[in-house]
Amino acid sequence: MNFDVETVRRDFPILSTLVRGKQLCYLDNAASTQKPQVVIDRLRDFYSTENANINRGIHHLGELATDAYHGARRTVADFINAFSEKEVIFTAGTTESINLVASSWGRTHLKKGDEILLTGMEHHANIVPWQIVAEQTGALIKVIPVNESSEIDTEAFDSLIGERTRVLAICQVSNSLGTLNPIKSIIAKAKAAGVTTLVDGAQGAPHLLADVQELGCDFYVFSGHKIYGPTGIGVLWGRAELLDSMPPYKGGGDMIQRVTFEKTTYKGIPQRFEAGTPNIGGAAGLASAITYVQQFDPEELRAHETDVLEYALAMLGDMQGLTSYTRASKRAGAVSFTLDGIHPHDIATILDREGVAIRAGNHCTQPLMQSMGVNATARASFAMYNTKDEVDQLVNAIKKAYDLFS
Ligand code: PMP
Repeated sequence: MNFDVETVRRDFPILSTLVRGKQLCYLDNAASTQKPQVVIDRLRDFYSTENANINRGIHHLGELATDAYHGARRTVADFINAFSEKEVIFTAGTTESINLVASSWGRTHLKKGDEILLTGMEHHANIVPWQIVAEQTGALIKVIPVNESSEIDTEAFDSLIGERTRVLAICQVSNSLGTLNPIKSIIAKAKAAGVTTLVDGAQGAPHLLADVQELGCDFYVFSGHKIYGPTGIGVLWGRAELLDSMPPYKGGGDMIQRVTFEKTTYKGIPQRFEAGTPNIGGAAGLASAITYVQQFDPEELRAHETDVLEYALAMLGDMQGLTSYTRASKRAGAVSFTLDGIHPHDIATILDREGVAIRAGNHCTQPLMQSMGVNATARASFAMYNTKDEVDQLVNAIKKAYDLFS
């Protein structure tokens, strides 16, 4: 289907909200996206007509719920171009997916002196789980610095990746900077050095950049709620041979073959990593969100998003006293900025009065903020339903903030 932003906007009921009499301008999409009516309907329909536990109930509803859940896995596998649907593990979100890999893969494969390579622009979700496993195993964290252009220092990367590097965990798109990392070439280099790779796709998948075969990584993770789906559901994709070699991350029902008090044997993937009752409704909702996104021509959708982002960068770039941290030559999704003399939290508060929802803070990237020499930035982040008119609304609201503070 051709991409028409006005038609798309009508699919998202919340976008017609008035905030203190002003039209809502929702620019906090990197934190969480809004949901189209089809996703809202899918959740209602699932709980109205299909709800039961999966895999065990030999009854009508149990079969419907099981079909919905495993059908969702097929939809995700197709969306990310997985080699096989059994490589798709449902989790609670990006955070849980990374914790699963760090804990299960990390504790199996890392030992004292091994190196875990991260970048200076990682979200805490792609730092802390690795620190936990580093403490447990004696592995060391190494960090690829971010340069003045908000990009990964590729020369530093070349010198940091070495014989002791076991894993590289890197975001596809920075939630704080909007930097789109050159994942393919970085992964290719890591692979050539025999390094296992995890791509944090939390901000990449929503911009339809989640082709795992194209990227060449070993693990890819993302959250449903950032791609127009429900909260509480996310994905870990991993190469089957790697997932097969990993022990369970949590134990419980549905992941076992046989349990005795002496010994328990486990199922294969994906069930081995999905102990307990999963978020069945969430998986169904995520599948409908993906199907919704897939109806559009991906080139057209991306072109629209790029158009709005570049317009925002141009408009904000013209404003006096504004420092933009979105400087990378390749970018997606977000503009991060500060204004002279106004704290980012004050910017966000004043913008909210104008109906404009942005985020202010460290965006769960404290080490990045420290390296940039700031405590916080204001961030406007965009989704497919945002428009250039909304960028104008943002710019006008920022001008008001200036007037108030000058
Ligand atoms: N990584 C990145 C790049 C993110 O932007 C986020 C969410 N802000 C996360 C990880 C964590 O995602 P979640 O809270 O959905 O688990």
